[in-house]
Amino acid sequence: MRPRTPLPEIHASFYRFANVNNTIRIRGGSVYARISDLLEGAPDTVVEAIAHILLAKLYRKPIEPAQAARYRKYVSSREMASKAHLIRNMRGRKHLHGARGQTYDLHEIFDALNARFFHGLLGRPEMTWSREHARNSLGHYDPAHNTIVVSRIFDRPQVPRYAVEYLVYHEMLHLRHPVKLRGARRCVHPAALQEEERLFPELEKAKAFLKRL
Ligand SMILES: [Zn+2]
Repeated sequence: MRPRTPLPEIHASFYRFANVNNTIRIRGGSVYARISDLLEGAPDTVVEAIAHILLAKLYRKPIEPAQAARYRKYVSSREMASKAHLIRNMRGRKHLHGARGQTYDLHEIFDALNARFFHGLLGRPEMTWSREHARNSLGHYDPAHNTIVVSRIFDRPQVPRYAVEYLVYHEMLHLRHPVKLRGARRCVHPAALQEEERLFPELEKAKAFLKRL
């Protein structure tokens, strides 16, 4: 975009916006970019598209249609849309909806799993049932806010306890295994996480239940 100018100092970080949002500004010769933390774990090509769009904005250059399309397609994907929806509900309204549901108490489930699998060593994050009965985002760990959200769809007597336990256990593994960089690639489910997940005895049963759901 600016071939003959020296590269400015660049500060880029994920930021906890209430929505999918990305910002860029220049101050004192340094470039500051904030990327929505909802895009953590997005494929490299999408992150590149975001960088392109932000820099084009900053330097008032045309945005390549292919990059714009790549970003739009990702953000409007069902998975992203439901994740954004869930977070918007949680952050936009500021209050959490509580760990104690009608059928299951997330704190109680966390404590039991902590004792069973982690020698009670994990610090309990904020835990809450989602406000709505989200079907596309079943569980989510938000590292910026240290919060585990579980879809309220699981807070029903017809849902076996092992299914709720599996969801919480998976998010607990995210607590233990933060997103890693492998080269330039972000690894959301590193091998160590996947291996530890297999220690959950009802893994196959739980996955089958989620699939039916
Ligand atoms: Zn995961």
